[in-house]
Amino acid sequence: MAGLRAAALERIREIAGPSGVVDDPGQQAAYLVDERRLYQGEAALIVRPASTDEVSRILTICHEAGLAVVPQGGNTGYCGAATPDDPDRQVLMSFARMNRIRDVDPVGFTMTVEAGVVLARAQAAAAEHELFFPLSMGSEGSCQIGGNLSTNAGGLAVLKYGTARELVLGLEVVLPDGQVLHGLKGLRKDNTGYDLKQLFMGAEGTLGVITAAVLKLYPQPTERQTAWLAVADADAACRLLGAARRISGDCVTSFEYVSRASLALVLAHVEGVSNPLDQTYDHYVLMEMSAAVAQGSLREVMEQALERGMDSGDVLDGAIAESGPQRAGLWKLRESIPEAEKKYGGAVKHDVSVLISRIPEYLAAAPARVAALTDCYLSVYGHIGDGNLHYNLLPPAGSDPDSFRKQWAARLSQAVHGLAAEMDGSFSAEHGVGKLKKGELQRLKNPVDLAVMRALKQALDPRGIMNPGKLF
Ligand SMILES: Cc1cc2nc3c(=O)[nH]c(=O)nc-3n(C[C@H](O)[C@H](O)[C@H](O)COP(=O)(O)OP(=O)(O)OC[C@H]3O[C@@H](n4cnc5c(N)ncnc54)[C@H](O)[C@@H]3O)c2cc1C
Repeated sequence: MAGLRAAALERIREIAGPSGVVDDPGQQAAYLVDERRLYQGEAALIVRPASTDEVSRILTICHEAGLAVVPQGGNTGYCGAATPDDPDRQVLMSFARMNRIRDVDPVGFTMTVEAGVVLARAQAAAAEHELFFPLSMGSEGSCQIGGNLSTNAGGLAVLKYGTARELVLGLEVVLPDGQVLHGLKGLRKDNTGYDLKQLFMGAEGTLGVITAAVLKLYPQPTERQTAWLAVADADAACRLLGAARRISGDCVTSFEYVSRASLALVLAHVEGVSNPLDQTYDHYVLMEMSAAVAQGSLREVMEQALERGMDSGDVLDGAIAESGPQRAGLWKLRESIPEAEKKYGGAVKHDVSVLISRIPEYLAAAPARVAALTDCYLSVYGHIGDGNLHYNLLPPAGSDPDSFRKQWAARLSQAVHGLAAEMDGSFSAEHGVGKLKKGELQRLKNPVDLAVMRALKQALDPRGIMNPGKLF
């Protein structure tokens, strides 16, 4: 068996060629550890195919020889889902060389890209055609389209444009046995049975390899208004969201919550930021509106929404960005929170979702669940316009982050996730399951859902070669 695998690895080397294999231990290191450095991995081979044909031939060999494949995009995922852990049987497949923009269709408003295209490059390619690809997140300079689709990434504009899966019109996928699903027609309408592409998005590489996608493009926003607001409480934030969507004709693109504690972390640990308001408050919202057609003036619409909020007492204070740099400054406050948490010593991170209308209830109930276990510094923020909170728990000042994590991480996560499940929410709104949360999937997912997921896995990957040990 070992001889068969060694021969198979040799054939894979031949297919990828010298530039398609990473042998240098110094270069290998970055592929073998995850973004949060929770998992140190090992692999039999790190291969970087350059085409769908190469992926197909490599998977055929792996399937025959019983080698597993761990797909890896930009390796920015938060759940260890792209880290291999078997030096004999697992082949890490990186898509960095599959980075071609195959086509931009300015009439159909679509773009066909390979899996390894970095998200920021996909955005720029659309912009060259005066079009807009709306997926956007803090990791966009490194994460890849294949990774975005495999995690069904969310990000900063879900409220208006949806998660990654809603931005896809077609997928090209290599199945575990090497067969290729050619789904790049890019049709907006096609009711000829099951929508197969949906199976592979959010699957975290456990059902097949995404090699290319047809993405939806939109008109470029011509106007943006961004405001940093202090709100009375979480209920006020939810009311403001509803009012702003109505007043603006659904031009609210982002609606991000930031707690006093998360802002304090950023102000203490991140260079080049300042509090936009004179006072400090308990609850903040970063609201952005955007429009592709000047709707009178979006500035007036934003001001109208804020005036109404102030009249009702929901908005306590606020600042509207007057320029591009000011807008970037407001966004930096929100986007630097993960960096600030890292500098503080790291967080036990959570990514839960509930109905938007139940966010206040979640925020009211969660502190007691946490306090019943141990003392924590709560850094709470997130995409509340999507009902998604990052309920992150940091060690209290002065205690050691590693011992805190070892002693408390599992129990704290169970409490935070459990509350979301009790409220009919999700324990993983956008980061996925990977290795980190597979116990929680078993504990919290409905047994019928789990049985269907297992049946799909068995049907598509009966030999279990795709990303083993992730999800299940
Ligand atoms: C600073 C920062 C901010 C972030 N903000 C957000 C955010 O706002 N919203 C959000 O959703 N996430 C966010 N993330 C998490 C992460 O960036 C996303 O999950 C992203 O979509 C992962 O893409 P990737 O290319 O890095 O994938 P990887 O981490 O390499 O892989 C993720 C999963 O996809 C699989 N995979 C990768 N490529 C393929 C392929 N071609 N075919 C099949 N499977 C594949 C892997 O096996 C793994 O299971 C953030 C991360 C960081 C570091």
